[in-house]
Amino acid sequence: MKRPTILVLGAGYGGLSTVVNLQKSLGTDEADVVLINKNDYHYESTWLHEAAAGTMSPDSVRYDISSVIKSEKVKFVKAEVTAIDVEGKVVTTNVGTHAYDYLVISLGFEGETFGIPGLDKYALSIANVNAARQIRDHIEYQFANWSLDEVKDDSRLTIIVGGAGFTGIEFLGELGNRVPELCKEYDVPAEKVRVLCVEAAPMVLPGFDPELVDYAVRQLKAKGIEFSIGTPVVEATSEGVNLKKGEDEFEFIKAGTVVWAAGIRGNRLIEQTGIENMRARVKVEKDLRAPGHSDVFIVGDCALMINEETNRPFPPTAQIAMQQGDMCANNIIALMKGEITSPFTPDLKGTVCSLGDDDAIGDAFGKKITGKTASFMKKMIDNRALFMIGGMGLTIKKGKFNLLK
Ligand code: FAD
Ligand code: NAD
Repeated sequence: MKRPTILVLGAGYGGLSTVVNLQKSLGTDEADVVLINKNDYHYESTWLHEAAAGTMSPDSVRYDISSVIKSEKVKFVKAEVTAIDVEGKVVTTNVGTHAYDYLVISLGFEGETFGIPGLDKYALSIANVNAARQIRDHIEYQFANWSLDEVKDDSRLTIIVGGAGFTGIEFLGELGNRVPELCKEYDVPAEKVRVLCVEAAPMVLPGFDPELVDYAVRQLKAKGIEFSIGTPVVEATSEGVNLKKGEDEFEFIKAGTVVWAAGIRGNRLIEQTGIENMRARVKVEKDLRAPGHSDVFIVGDCALMINEETNRPFPPTAQIAMQQGDMCANNIIALMKGEITSPFTPDLKGTVCSLGDDDAIGDAFGKKITGKTASFMKKMIDNRALFMIGGMGLTIKKGKFNLLK
């Protein structure tokens, strides 16, 4: 019998976790496993805010895919997927086409601008490792130029962060630590710098524990960060952003840097597949297959599952993407053996949100934690993710060991 080809698209948390589990469970002659990713490295999306602020180098955030896959079991193809034909069972990339028997779509997230004018053009987004590097360099460029400008425009030193969700808050936490370093490096008086977070909802981290949110806001304000709450960004221009402050009231804020962290969507390629989706996220069946496509699995941020307890979608997180990768591998193997697949249920261990390298808030194993305890927990979670994919070797090489900072 012909060996099945299992094609995995994307080497983020969901894709790598699928592949690592397939290579653990399958013998070399049982299937042709092919992993396609646009880079030959994986990046820890959950650390991108650190690279964007410049508190961690972009290189520290990524590692070679070859270091975690066994080449005798998984063929890695560095290519950009350009089209997915689920009827013809073929995937097109910039370097060729690949037929499949089983397909795993794990192409991750993209920034969502909700059609707000100017954001695509003028705002930066913490979307991948290169985009994070661009934000770091852009902020440094503004500091360097302010120092050189003969006529100084202090708005060069204003950084606006759109969105006070987890990404926005974690980025602000890093900026709180990074800005004083930049001021020192570029001889910029601290009072000239303005870091402003703009949030549309009436609170920071909407839906999260109010006591923990209060702690986070207090800590960030103590680092000089300002908040404008209940004031959606309605436009971005080359000069800054326009905020809606009331029925017919707007305020334009001039800024040298605008970082958009106000929402994500699934990968746009999903929208061209003909599979029903909402902002490129597919409401998958319980076993993670796309409805109506018994050979297509979707994991990670491109998948959407409803939490039956709250009747709301589970948030798109690395925690869930990795667990889905495990289950997806098991279910493909079940199908290969002619067995029935299992339903996926997330095992949610909580949420920890960093506020810089030395502080955090969290709701972990049912307990509220803050400060160094939460920060310790966050680094342990980061290290665990490395361990799950690449074992002790990868954890030692890339892990965070300043645990008690
Ligand atoms: P991704 O990790 O986005 O990986 C997708 C992969 O597909 C990438 O390697 C990409 O290069 C590749 N790809 C994309 N398009 C193509 C293409 N056309 N062709 C080939 N390859 C392609 N979640 C948590 O649980 N905990 C956290 O602490 C946390 N912190 C976060 C912090 C930040 C700053 C951000 C932005 C997100 C954070 N998240 C966190 C969310 C988490 O990062 C995502 O849920 C997770 O990355 C989703 O994993 P994924 O495998 O679906 O996709
Ligand atoms: P999000 O959707 O969770 O938050 C976006 C925020 O932007 C919301 O608070 C929203 O009200 C606000 N917003 C929307 N439109 C706006 C506008 N026009 N003007 C101003 N504000 C606006 O997005 P995110 O923070 O990027 O998180 C994405 C996913 O990644 C979530 O599932 C999150 O749980 C996960 N994540 C987790 C962690 C963690 O666990 N530590 C860290 C980062 C991200």
